[in-house]
Amino acid sequence: MARILIIGAGGVSGVAVHKCAQAADVFTDICLASRTKSKCDALAAQIKAKYNRDIRTEQVDADNVPQLVELIRKVRPDVVLNLALPYQDLHIMDACLETGVNYVDTANYEPPEVAHFEYKWQWAYQDRFREKGIMALLGSGFDPGVTNVYTAWAMKNHFDTIETLDIIDANAGDHGQPFATNFNPEINIREVTSKGRYWENGKWIETEPLSVKETMDFPDGIGPKNIYLMFHEELESLTKHLAPKGLKRARFWMTFSDNYLKHLEVLENVGMTRIDPVMYQGHEIIPLQFLKALLPDPASLGPLTKGKTCIGCRIKGTKDGREREYYIYNVCNHEDCYKEVNSQAISYTTGVPAMIGAMMVATGTWKGCGVFNMEEFDPAPFMEKLTQYGLPWTEVFLKK
Ligand code: NDP
Repeated sequence: MARILIIGAGGVSGVAVHKCAQAADVFTDICLASRTKSKCDALAAQIKAKYNRDIRTEQVDADNVPQLVELIRKVRPDVVLNLALPYQDLHIMDACLETGVNYVDTANYEPPEVAHFEYKWQWAYQDRFREKGIMALLGSGFDPGVTNVYTAWAMKNHFDTIETLDIIDANAGDHGQPFATNFNPEINIREVTSKGRYWENGKWIETEPLSVKETMDFPDGIGPKNIYLMFHEELESLTKHLAPKGLKRARFWMTFSDNYLKHLEVLENVGMTRIDPVMYQGHEIIPLQFLKALLPDPASLGPLTKGKTCIGCRIKGTKDGREREYYIYNVCNHEDCYKEVNSQAISYTTGVPAMIGAMMVATGTWKGCGVFNMEEFDPAPFMEKLTQYGLPWTEVFLKK
């Protein structure tokens, strides 16, 4: 019996709200609050029609801490699930601290004025959360999120040491649009146009954006795809937690179609991905925010997207003195997701683990005081819920 307050009513939130409604034995009260209340109301109407469950809706500006505090005091949730944007993370954490409520999110803090994300700002809340006797669970999406849990699962069950970790995110779906991003375009383009970075022998090695490429043959009929090395936030926490256990290298890869890269290159070259203000006809505009207004809303891609995603971890290490190579992944079908929750697989693969993370915290299955990353807890109960709530996983031993 738990009360959840979900903040943000975009693509990921849409899925998480459906999943909370499905988990009626745990989430007995659901409140959805966002900047645009009409989006919350539209989602609440969908949930009423589909599950006959009432969802409370509220308006909130998540950059305004006193407003958040007032809302949390009114709703009295057991857990706040932050599904707004990474810019709001610290404000929502501040409000949770003031009200003594547990916090869960899916993406680490990013200052609006620089395309740079890292955990230092959120890890800095460690002592304050601990002293207040509450917990913050960071990065409970797919990547970060499930990829951290997969790694913890591999470590717990299949390896004595993990030496190399490659997290590989493939979207083999097609939305039929000339150019669109699968989640918030501003966040997505900031991430993709940043320098790549991977960790080797205790050091970070920086690469030019999308300059390191390999080909991988994906399972389940997806076939070969180009994968590009990028920095991704789970590398920071996983290297911190696995380095003492023998990790030598960790990398993150993502697939991009040639068409996506061609458009991105042109947009970059003409300055449309800039995040500094530019004067236009007497107004300051930020080109990337203007571009976001022109691009298709990721939520509108739901009914159009066909094909599959495949996200997983390839791990090499040792077990009982022998070399072992292992691959664990999930394949998700865009059209099946749309049929179930009116959303494509990118939002689905994030919204499901967001709900499960909130469930782990709300039920006390994962318990602690302070700020935590996903790999710090027992992966088993989370893995069980993944299968139950629509993200089954497959393990392959490439070398036993
Ligand atoms: P959307 O842009 O679709 O939704 C964001 C929502 O947050 C919108 O409803 C928006 O309101 C609301 N919002 C933004 N600013 C505020 C504010 N100041 N106050 C209140 N509400 C606000 O994003 P997504 O659903 O695609 O992504 C949600 C989160 O999930 C992001 O942090 C993203 O980085 C993360 N993510 C994580 C992944 C993972 O695997 N870990 C993968 C994909 C996404 P409005 O409608 O008014 O604009």
